[in-house]
Amino acid sequence: MGSFASPILSVNHMNKQFGTGCDQCSSPENRQLEKNYCRACGTVYSCQDITFDLYPGEVLGIVGESGSGKSTLMRCLYFDQEVTGGEAYLQPYKDGDTNMFQESSQQQKYIRNHLMGKVYQNPVLGLRMNFSSIGNIAEKMIAAGNRHVAAMESRGSELLERVHIPVYRMKEAPKNFSGGMQQRVQIAKALSNNPPILLLDEVTTGLDLSVQANVLDLIKHLQRELNISMLLVSHDLGVIRMLADRTMVMLDGRVVEQGLTDQILEDPQHAYTQQLVHSLL
Ligand SMILES: [Zn+2]
Repeated sequence: MGSFASPILSVNHMNKQFGTGCDQCSSPENRQLEKNYCRACGTVYSCQDITFDLYPGEVLGIVGESGSGKSTLMRCLYFDQEVTGGEAYLQPYKDGDTNMFQESSQQQKYIRNHLMGKVYQNPVLGLRMNFSSIGNIAEKMIAAGNRHVAAMESRGSELLERVHIPVYRMKEAPKNFSGGMQQRVQIAKALSNNPPILLLDEVTTGLDLSVQANVLDLIKHLQRELNISMLLVSHDLGVIRMLADRTMVMLDGRVVEQGLTDQILEDPQHAYTQQLVHSLL
């Protein structure tokens, strides 16, 4: 990451709320919330004024407890959910001149299929469990306009080999696979159209520790080989420490701290980050 590089993704003042708000919570300056929740009207402010840059070839970790807004942020960036406000610019899309949140759903599909891949914590959200593994990959390639069956087959098998799924199991459905293998198929699918950005949402949560280590190791290798930019969400600072160049800490829908991962680990500023770091020791 050179200091003169411009960001591949810039997110500015992104907001996502559930509910319409009331007198006590509508003004961002003097909101009276319990965590991210307004007692008076029930509105939940899941993401509040989120601003960050992601650079080419960089891994940006996003750490926070459940309910901190980190997964909502990922869903908004992948258009699984619509933002309430704010902007995001992608360098490879219209030269980074267009707020992707304002684009038509057709354009957003284009961005999803060509410029991003996402791996979900729950493989059911990322895979069709009854399709063959190679069929799952082909599906994403077809969505991006590929029509050439032989080319898709060879690309699919190359990707599955890359994530260490044995050749003879390529036609098997993910429902027959272990949790770790399912995540590896999701990773292969997410990479199928060579996206410059990969979104990883708690991808190793719930896996056995040894399996977790294997999947993280695979991600690390792929990142270096492909020089892909990654947003890596986890509640586990140990996972972030392993992979992220920079880290952003979220609490109750807000970014409370961001910086180089090493710096955050050595000298955490916010009380919540200090607590996270101490629990690692
Ligand atoms: Zn309210």
